[in-house]
Formats: sequence, structure tokens, C-alpha cells
Amino acid sequence: MSSLIDVHTHLHPPKLFRAIRRWFAERSDWDISAQPTEPLDVAAQYRAAGVERFVFCSYAHKTAMARELNAWLCQTSRDLDGYGLPLATVHLDDASYLDDLRTALDDGCIGLKIHEDVQRLAVDDPRFDPVYAELARRGGFVLAHIGPIPWDYPPHAGRERVEAVVAKHPGLNFVVAHFGAPDSYDYLALMERHPRLYLDTTMYFAQESPIGSRFVHDAAAVEAHANRIVYGTDYPNIPFAYDRELRGLEALGLPAPALRAIVHDNGAALIEEALSGART
Ligand SMILES: [Zn+2]
Repeated sequence: MSSLIDVHTHLHPPKLFRAIRRWFAERSDWDISAQPTEPLDVAAQYRAAGVERFVFCSYAHKTAMARELNAWLCQTSRDLDGYGLPLATVHLDDASYLDDLRTALDDGCIGLKIHEDVQRLAVDDPRFDPVYAELARRGGFVLAHIGPIPWDYPPHAGRERVEAVVAKHPGLNFVVAHFGAPDSYDYLALMERHPRLYLDTTMYFAQESPIGSRFVHDAAAVEAHANRIVYGTDYPNIPFAYDRELRGLEALGLPAPALRAIVHDNGAALIEEALSGART
């Protein structure tokens, strides 16, 4: 079994998880009801699948909830003995959002999750600038879900927002979720100029995925950027089994070192940089 570092998974407090499950049941045709939600059960799935470490997140979809949510994420990470590491959430309409981030990083978060669609925020909102500066200073990374995918796929605009952020914050490790769909190969070109820009694999390479099955996969382009692609899955909020993302990646036929960089080494390095704290 391969050793995996999964940088994109979800754990939510029970009440929020129930609401998210209800949303998928009522508003989508995804059947995710079979996947566990209790942190210990989810972690057991990862151990069985050969996951060495995972990064998990939730998101504040409205004001006045980020602080409590971050505290829950950090306590959950401690309950898991650090096997899972949390990303913080902030809401820009909270007056204390920068302080919320600092508190969360002090408490064990290794970066920040932004979900543009669920949170109704844009990554290039200038109110994020002090947040990005703080994350860059402390080596934490951003994991960003850009735009309204998987419900709609408007091209280019999301990628332009990301480009504005990484140009303004060259010291910030910035991971675009879902392999940057629908602008994936534009992002790969952007990486030449932006050495801290990454894409995660989440729901892009699994054959059964409603996202990835829309796109043609270019194994040569993936191999050429294998040092900037990180493995993620969105588990347990996916309508297919955990191993499908890995099977999809394996099906690309990449050389072993490139596959290992993607499923383990790059994610391990992002985590290590965040855990080692302030840069000089
Ligand atoms: Zn996600």
C-alpha cells in the first residue's frame, strides 16, 4: 500500500455535518450517505487506505462562527493525536477575522481553507491581504476552492483571481483545489512564474468523479509539474470510494518518482513548512 499524504479532506462538528449531508441529499444527486462522519471513524478509513497523515478543514459559511469552528478543528486534531492536521477558516465580515486566524494558527492550524462558493468570498478580496501576509510569515498554506464548481464551470475568472493573489503574495504557499478545474492547464503554465502555486488532485482524477470525468487528462503535463501537484480527495464528502482518486492517478502511468511526489512528498513538505513555523 502506498504511503499517502492527503491534504484535502473534511471534518465538521456533528450539527454542521448533518446540515451538509442534508444539503447533498436534497440539492444534489450525489449519494454520500455511506461515508463516515465521526472523526475517529474517518481516520480509521485513512489508516486502512495507507494514509500517513491527512489535512482536514471545515468552513465558516456565515459570520460569528469561525472562532468556535477553529477551536473544534484544533481539539479534533488533538483527539486524533495529530494524525489529522486542521486548516483554519475565517469569515471576512467578522471584525476579528485576522485575530481569528492568528488564534487558530497558535492553536494548531497549519493554514487556511477558503471556499469561494460556500463562503461567498473571492480569494482576491483585499481584506485577505493581512491574512495572506500572516500565513506567508508563518509558513502556513492556503487551500482554496475557486468558483462555483462542481455546479458550474465558468472559465478564466477564477484563475485570474488566483493569479492576482500569488503575484501579490509571492511568499505564500497557495494550493488550488480540484486541480484548478476548469482552468487546470492554465494553472500549470502559471506555475512557471509562481513557485509557490500548487494544484491538488481532489476529485479530478477519479474516474467516477462528477468533476474529473468532464475533463481530458494530460499525463505528460501532470508529470512535467509533478513537484507542484498534491494529493487530495475531499473525503468523506464524495460519492465514490476513498481509493478512487489514487486509482485514477495510477491510471495516468506516471513514473514512480512523479507519482510519489504527488501522493506523498509534496504534501509532506507543505505540512513540514507549516509545522516548522516562522520563516526567517
Ligand atoms: Zn473540499
